[in-house]
Amino acid sequence: MIPSHLNVYLVLRKTTANCMSMAWYCSGSTNAELVENLFRTGLVKNERVKNAMLGVDRAHYAPSRPYSDSPQPIGHGATISAPHMHGHACEYLINFLKPGSRVLDIGSGSGYLTHVFANLVTGPSASDISDGHVIGVDHIQELVDLSHRNMCKSDQGRTLLDSGKVEFITADGRLGWKAGAPYDAIHVGAAADKLHPVLIEQLRAPGRLFIPVDTESDGNPLAFGFGGGQYIWVVDKKEDGSVHKEKVFQVSYVPLTGPPKK
Ligand code: SAH
Repeated sequence: MIPSHLNVYLVLRKTTANCMSMAWYCSGSTNAELVENLFRTGLVKNERVKNAMLGVDRAHYAPSRPYSDSPQPIGHGATISAPHMHGHACEYLINFLKPGSRVLDIGSGSGYLTHVFANLVTGPSASDISDGHVIGVDHIQELVDLSHRNMCKSDQGRTLLDSGKVEFITADGRLGWKAGAPYDAIHVGAAADKLHPVLIEQLRAPGRLFIPVDTESDGNPLAFGFGGGQYIWVVDKKEDGSVHKEKVFQVSYVPLTGPPKK
């Protein structure tokens, strides 16, 4: 009989392998084709996620191979994550990404996912005060400037910035961003060495955190014998304030690090 912890491991491995083998099939020659392929293969399942991704042209964020389902370098040691990873992040957070929701995107890098989140929590009108708010945080000033420039490449992106519904901030994301808390959803786009408690503190109740964590350093006994590695954790703060953590699948992100040396 296969031990239950091994079953968990096998399921996680299979999910990762599926993502990797499907990546090739999901690439497209246009943004619409890429997103349709992610939907067709089931890597994106939710219609709202699909429409939010259709609304952001990846060419504005990943100029070299925008419609390839793979990560791309964006400079300063950072990468824009693969489209299927952006899709997964939105799918896991979707119940917390409603019109009016407040979202924190830590390690916002290119700004692509920040823009997709904004499409999920705001309406088309710049004057709708009931709209949500998305804050992108990166600790590299040049990337914060890049994300701002990228978003200004579309009229819709520029309107989101001008209206203040989207902000990009230079800060150490390991501390979250207290001024904008509490958040319905917090996404972390770089691998943390632990589940930083301050991020859970900054969640609304109910709220959800999506964070890659390096299991080698999280002290989890399940990591023993599996060579460690990075896993996505989904952390829910329930309405009564109780916190539930679940390790969902294996990933490969750049690390969430200390501030860059000047
Ligand atoms: N979601 C982004 C991912 C960019 S890669 C995208 O798809 O474009 C991860 C990003 O995390 C990098 O831009 C890096 O600069 C940033 N990062 C790493 N450590 C950080 C920290 N402590 N605080 C804020 N950002 C950090």
